[in-house]
This record gives sequence, structure tokens and C-alpha cells, in this order.
Amino acid sequence: MSSTLKQAQGFLNFVNASPTPYHVVDTVKKQLSEAGFKELSERTNWAGKLKKNEKYYVTRNASSIIAFTVGGKYEPGNGISIVGGHTDSPSLRVKPISDILKEGYAEVGVETYGGGIWHTWFDRDLSLAGRVFVTEPETGNVVSRLIKIDKPLLRIPTLAIHLDKERSKFEFNKETQFRPIVGLDAKPTEAPKKDGDKEFQSIKAVVERHNKELIQIISKDLGVSSDNIEDFELLLYDTQKSCLGGMKDEFIFSPRLDNQVTCYCATQGLILSTDKLSEQSGIQLVSLFDHEEIGSLSAQGANSSFLPDVLHRLTQLTFNPDVDLSSELPSSYFWTAMAKSFLISSDMAHGVNPNYSENYETLNKPKLNEGPVIKINANQRYVTNSPGIVLLKKLASLSKVPLQLFVIRNDSPCGSTIGPMVAAKLGIRTLDIGNPQLSMHSIRETCGSEDIEKLVSLFESFFENYHTIEPKILVN
Ligand SMILES: [Zn+2]
Repeated sequence: MSSTLKQAQGFLNFVNASPTPYHVVDTVKKQLSEAGFKELSERTNWAGKLKKNEKYYVTRNASSIIAFTVGGKYEPGNGISIVGGHTDSPSLRVKPISDILKEGYAEVGVETYGGGIWHTWFDRDLSLAGRVFVTEPETGNVVSRLIKIDKPLLRIPTLAIHLDKERSKFEFNKETQFRPIVGLDAKPTEAPKKDGDKEFQSIKAVVERHNKELIQIISKDLGVSSDNIEDFELLLYDTQKSCLGGMKDEFIFSPRLDNQVTCYCATQGLILSTDKLSEQSGIQLVSLFDHEEIGSLSAQGANSSFLPDVLHRLTQLTFNPDVDLSSELPSSYFWTAMAKSFLISSDMAHGVNPNYSENYETLNKPKLNEGPVIKINANQRYVTNSPGIVLLKKLASLSKVPLQLFVIRNDSPCGSTIGPMVAAKLGIRTLDIGNPQLSMHSIRETCGSEDIEKLVSLFESFFENYHTIEPKILVN
């Protein structure tokens, strides 16, 4: 298998294992652990525990993850090369009380999450995945269990064309006409009989709030009693697997390209760069955040304290256990490190759609399989500037990765990324980049299969070469 195909296949496996942000973090953790990364906890002090020439990761809410490597020649105050991305994608989430019966059907109440192209969710074979909090009878502890039900369970049915009075338009009410059906002949869930001995419940039990048979499917999948399910966060996902497509396998047809392409490529790039870790003088870091699709403002989003907190900890460590045990470095090291650091904010870009080419700026139409796209916006929806482009050019030349450029039309709306908010929070140089794709935010998107390897190589080059190239690009 060619290395290009190997990386494309690696991505397919990644996305097929990762229907939710919790699964993304779990998949990334598995890849890091296999590569020898050690898990850290935010609940403990890291002083005296971290060493040079070592690899670590830490998670928050199990839906955001930061992984980093410490170069063998790292000195306090040295810069940090960061790739940032996001773990979430537009989806539907099961409501806290979801059991609906209508016309003999059992339906599941769902909330829209993010700005999905929602009409693409109709007539798809959907299922459920997420995390379930379960009481362990032996210990009494409540633990989080990941769940991914591997069979089509739900479907949002379109209206037959024969019954549709307005055939030319496809408009629908997101509350009343966008409900998945999950079964037939369902019985209303009965409230448990009141008896004096029944334990007090502050909130109705899960089995009373959701379809009883659905809860049985979930408890069977987890191998637990439904009485021990305390709560859950369940998302709908398309059971059709991510796959190669096109005459020469030039495409990837897949859900969640935005932004699991970054999650996969950044993790791979960081792992591959550890071959030369003993020679490196910086900290190399990947930060993958939840909640980008809804604005990033949460305890674990890009607008949270997660990345700043980790950077504050790291810049105050000497990575010499003898010294760390007694003291930490002054916070002034944080500022010097930030001034020498760089963030590549990586999120998917818009490849030109041949049927809508007039929606793209005439001279900036990124093509699939022609490399990562640097995103530029004068109004700072993307924060790319010249020093960043110079740096990326040099890194891409070293790894022979072609790059493309993108600006939006002046008469078009523009998306944004985690780039501006992280740049503003930390005051570090930042550039926005991403692989080109079609149909962003559809349930089924398309990108180029050869671009996966290119982005991996670019990130690997960034982590390996940043500290030799950066001091030669003089800004201030
Ligand atoms: Zn995105």
C-alpha cells in the first residue's frame, strides 16, 4: 500500500471509530498511548513529574484533548509549536426528555447542534452514540461509558413528493418535522408505581424520560442494568461508513471531515515528529477542542482556559524533576515563550464545487488533492498574515507539500475558526489553514484522499523544523 493510501485508510478508520467528540478524544488517546504518550490529569500538580524527551496528553471533559512532546534540548522560555483544531461536528442530540408517541410511531426528541445542512439528515440510516454515566454496583462510583450502537435505529422521513404541495422547495420545521422515528407500536412509558419505600428522585429516572425499549437497547449494549444508567449525552450519527470514492479512489466520502481531518492529521504529525524528539529544543503541542461549532465558549472550548492553563503549567516547569519538586519558574517565562510560539489553526477549507463555481472568488478556487489551503481574510475571520505565510512556505518546501490560497468573495458570508480567539487570548502568531472539501456541514462531505498525507507531512515538518526556521523570520 502506498503511503498516500495508508494515510487515507488511517483516516477512514479514525472517523468510523469516532461518531462523537467523546469518541474522537478516545481514538486520539488510543493512538497516543500506542506511541508511548503518558496521560496527565488536571487534578494533580505536574511539578517534578514531567521530563524532557517525553510525551504526554491531558483531557478536559473527555471531549477536548491536549497532547505535547518536550524536546530533549528544551530550555525554559523556548517557544511552543501548536496545531489547534476541533473535535465536534454539527449533529442532533437527544433531548433530556425525548419520548414522543405519534400516529403509532415512537419518535425521539432531538436538539440541533451547530449549523448543519439539516436537509441532508433526512432519509439517512441513523444510529446513536455518545457517553452514558452508569453506577457501578460494586463500588457505588458513577463512571462514564462510551457507546456506539452499530445498527441503523432511527430515520427522519421526508414527505412523499406526491403529497408535497410545494414540490419546488424543501423547507421544514426543525421542531415538528425533523423528528426521527425509532419504532412502531410503542407503549407510553409507565411511571413506576408509587410506594412508600421508593427512593426519592430529584429528576425522573432515565427510563421514564426516554423510550423504554431504546433504554433497553442501550443498557444491553453496555452490559449494565437500565436502573444503573444515571444520565447520558447521546448524539445521532449516520451509520454509512466513511469510504474512498471516485474512479481512481481520488475522493473520500465521509461524515465529519470538518474537523476530524485535523484531529487525525495533527495527531499523526505529532507522533511522526517524535522520531527526532531528542534533537528538538521546543515543546510541540496539539490542542483539539470541543464546541467550535457553537462558538467555542464553554469550559473546554477554544475560548476556555484549557489551553492557557496547560501552557501556564508547562512554561513554569524546568522539566528537571530535582528542581521542580522545590520550586516553579516565575510566570515571566510564559510571556517570553508565547512571543516565540506559533499556532497553526487547522480547520477544513472550501474546495471549488464545479456546479457552483460562481460562488467562489475568481482567482482563489482551491482544488481537491492539491494540498492544504491557507485561509486569508482582511477582516480577521481568519488571522493569517505575511510572517505566517512565510513560515508555512518554508515548512511546506522542506516536506514538499503544495499549498493553496483562499479568500472569500466580498459579497459572500465567511466562516471562522478557533484561530482568532486563541490568537487573541494568548497573543501568539497564528495562521489559518485546512484541507479543501465540498459540502461542509452536510451529513456526508467530500474531500481528496491524497490531501490527508499532505496535511500529516506539513504538521510533521512544523513540529520538527519550527524552532530552526522561526528565529530567522523577524517581525518586530
Ligand atoms: Zn470546522
